[in-house]
Amino acid sequence: MPAAAGYRVTGTARHRLAVLWRTLLYALLVLSPIIVREITGGGYGSDCVAGAGLVLGMTGFAVLALQPLFSSRFRWVERPFGLDRLLRVHRVTGVIGALFVTAHPVLLALGRNNRELLLSLDLPWHLMAAKLTLAVLVFFGIAALFHSRLRLPFQWWFRGHSLLTPVILAGIFMHSYAASVRYQPAAFRVLWFILLGAGAFSYLHLTVYRRFGGRLRPWKVTGVSRIGRDVWDISMEPPRGRRGFDYLPGQFLFVTLLRARGLPTEEHPFTISSSPAQKGYVSISPKESGDFTATVGKTEAGDGAVVMAPYGRFTYLLGNEPSRIVFMAGGIGITPFMSMLRYMRDTGDRRKVLLLYGCRTEQDLVFRDELERMSGPEGAPELEMVPVLSSPGDDWTGETGYVDGEKIDRLVGDPAGSSFYICGPPPMMAMVHGILRERNVDERSIHMERFSL
Ligand SMILES: Cc1cc2nc3c(=O)[nH]c(=O)nc-3n(C[C@H](O)[C@H](O)[C@H](O)COP(=O)(O)OP(=O)(O)OC[C@H]3O[C@@H](n4cnc5c(N)ncnc54)[C@H](O)[C@@H]3O)c2cc1C
Repeated sequence: MPAAAGYRVTGTARHRLAVLWRTLLYALLVLSPIIVREITGGGYGSDCVAGAGLVLGMTGFAVLALQPLFSSRFRWVERPFGLDRLLRVHRVTGVIGALFVTAHPVLLALGRNNRELLLSLDLPWHLMAAKLTLAVLVFFGIAALFHSRLRLPFQWWFRGHSLLTPVILAGIFMHSYAASVRYQPAAFRVLWFILLGAGAFSYLHLTVYRRFGGRLRPWKVTGVSRIGRDVWDISMEPPRGRRGFDYLPGQFLFVTLLRARGLPTEEHPFTISSSPAQKGYVSISPKESGDFTATVGKTEAGDGAVVMAPYGRFTYLLGNEPSRIVFMAGGIGITPFMSMLRYMRDTGDRRKVLLLYGCRTEQDLVFRDELERMSGPEGAPELEMVPVLSSPGDDWTGETGYVDGEKIDRLVGDPAGSSFYICGPPPMMAMVHGILRERNVDERSIHMERFSL
């Protein structure tokens, strides 16, 4: 395995331990208000509904304060889970935290028979701050959960999300702190500072230290070339005097291209398509598919780039050791497989790999020449590539249609003993996953990379 420190092979005792202790630490932090309340002997009053409201309020605060931990991209948090999975957890815990803090005033009002708490606008400042924060939180939650259904441009909701995070953290902190001054022992004040500190540090570390810090010493774009009808290859090297980073083939990075010339400077995730064995540079292969990617071809050698990496666990190096690996790529989903195959080639790894590569037309088969050069029983890897075209030209003699059950049965044969890696458009991934499960392939042998976070 390349020197990408700290990664553990999935399912091993060391990997399970890494997952377990981080999960327990998180649970401990979330439950810390209840634990501190028990230790300091504070009760929840005589009414159990109001008591439940207090528990939910305190726990909800802890959950929301810790939300930035999931999205902070700290490697020691991300490594055992993968950033995509962490961000899915971030969404679920965000909903749970929001529900808890929404239920908090409702249960307090019901338990204490005090409707004013909900309806009045003439309340102490910390309660008014709480109401305002709750309104922002509901708006925030709706935008986060339904942005694609509401057709909000990704950058709008993403920037809104980033700007509103400190507002929400400050609002819930002010309320919790003021309430604890009135009703709780001093230990609570310390606890609120610890929880807020963890959230604020995570948020600032990403947004200020890494994003703005990265602009002070940017990477440099060294090459931009068209490698397909609408696909580009962009190579970048670390700033002078810096070594770059180690990564596993199949991992991804975040890049902000600093191009001036009126071109967008947003941060986007892309798979690293180069091989970790080739030191001193990394490359990405973006396909023109939207507002930002339509401009990648206007990037020029010499432009700056803020690069954050590596992330994800989509690599055969962290999977079990099967006798054969089956890669299933759809369109630009070929990029993580390019990095993995190039790494196998560079390290003389002679394992058997079957690549089913689905595209619309022959022109969409990016990296075709390189893949053909790698193919054959004598090579490293021992690669068999099968392109599958859904809209082939008249002269195409290869496989046609989609990577479906019939092709999987015919080309893969008995799936036992194989590991499957899938990356492509969501409908293709869902279909192939379903087919494999129907053929009793164990979930642990199916690995998927989604191009959405
Ligand atoms: C792990 C991962 C690896 C990827 N690897 C590749 C690759 O190798 N090659 C490639 O062509 N594409 C890759 N993508 C997809 C690429 O990130 C999107 O196509 C690109 O961000 C779309 O931007 P756009 O403005 O051009 O398109 P838009 O039409 O604005 O966005 C299309 C969709 O892309 C996603 N998206 C847009 N902007 C962002 C952002 N800033 N951060 C996160 N998601 C965003 C959203 O889901 C959005 O709905 C990868 C995505 C992920 C998550």
